[in-house]
Amino acid sequence: MKLYEFESKEIVARYGIPVPRGRVVDKPEEALQVAKELGAAVLKAQVLVGGRGLAGGIKIVDKPEEALQVAKELLSASIRGERVERILVEEKVCIDRELYISLTVDRAARKLMYLVSEIGGVEIEELAKKYPEKIHKIYVDPNIGYVDYMAREALQALKLPWTLLQDLANIMKGMYKIMIDYDAELVEFNPLAFTCEGKLVALDAKIIIDDNSLYKHPELQKLYGREFSGFERKARELGVGSYVELDGDIGIICNGAGITMMTMDLVYYYGGKPANFLDLGGGVTRERIKKALTLMLSHPRAKVILINIFAGFTKLNEVAQGIVDAVKEVGMKKPLIIRFKGTFAEEGMRILKENGITEVYTELDDAVKMAVELARKM
Ligand code: GDP
Ligand code: MN
Repeated sequence: MKLYEFESKEIVARYGIPVPRGRVVDKPEEALQVAKELGAAVLKAQVLVGGRGLAGGIKIVDKPEEALQVAKELLSASIRGERVERILVEEKVCIDRELYISLTVDRAARKLMYLVSEIGGVEIEELAKKYPEKIHKIYVDPNIGYVDYMAREALQALKLPWTLLQDLANIMKGMYKIMIDYDAELVEFNPLAFTCEGKLVALDAKIIIDDNSLYKHPELQKLYGREFSGFERKARELGVGSYVELDGDIGIICNGAGITMMTMDLVYYYGGKPANFLDLGGGVTRERIKKALTLMLSHPRAKVILINIFAGFTKLNEVAQGIVDAVKEVGMKKPLIIRFKGTFAEEGMRILKENGITEVYTELDDAVKMAVELARKM
């Protein structure tokens, strides 16, 4: 579960890591009030998507009076589709250099890992593509934890003066404690600012908590699910299966985690991009596929829907009837590509074809290729 910047910074500050002074607000008048207390201020939209700076979610106001109007605009805006309900108003920091530091889990190495870079303020994925040599990795043995040599190594990679060693060590130690205490997957400061006054300040902060350990943190568990998209929430309410939102244009419905992942891999392999996936799990009934498909048909980004069902004790004639039910009720708003294999596949295919659903396949490769091709044309 991702925490908002202001939530992350509350934790970070408690662990003794410097963050800019500021407060989170949800009304323009409050933003003005806080800005007046701070002087020159930065207004930051609190959304969970990244890259707010480029998307217009970070505004600097040199005169506090400007904060009212800027806050009004931010609070009525959406950043990459996410509504802004709160803004963090902080003192404006004078930046000499923007740095990057994070602590994350390297699953392959079975270790924690600090990533540090003298280039900050850029998304790390982009940095990794453009200047992989500028990212320095420091592994942390989970049996030993943070050790001071790591700060010395990071200091050099960040090209910071030795006078900052103790400050950097405190930041890295704090990050490690947060990681352990909160069962975090990521603690990231991007940027960590090297200020004009020669100090280190976490200008942006992001913490992601491992969902599987939320039960250990009841105050966070209460918040679980808040970042789900409208569709994720609807799928949960309907009880049709596990739904995950992605950013492509092919809607995917399958029955089981393995077959879903395989179908997604094939879609990517043939050059397509899933809009989402809905894993119906075992025992697909007529009613459940009907609900699932009705939901999918209303998805704004899915141009084509690919259904891949491998039936053991699921009966494909029933699944076919459920598909027909959905199409009759809401109309065939977009192309349906269906692959059936297993119990009563032939009868299922006959039912589909009789009802005007003709893109029906036995081989998954053929179905996926067709879905990718249609999505590309639309
Ligand atoms: P993100 O775009 O969502 O990662 O938001 P950030 O909090 O990282 O802010 C984006 C950029 O805004 C930073 O990389 C800085 O360049 C700039 N910025 C944020 N806060 C300040 C500040 O206090 N002073 C100055 N000069 N720039 C800031
Ligand atoms: Mn950032």
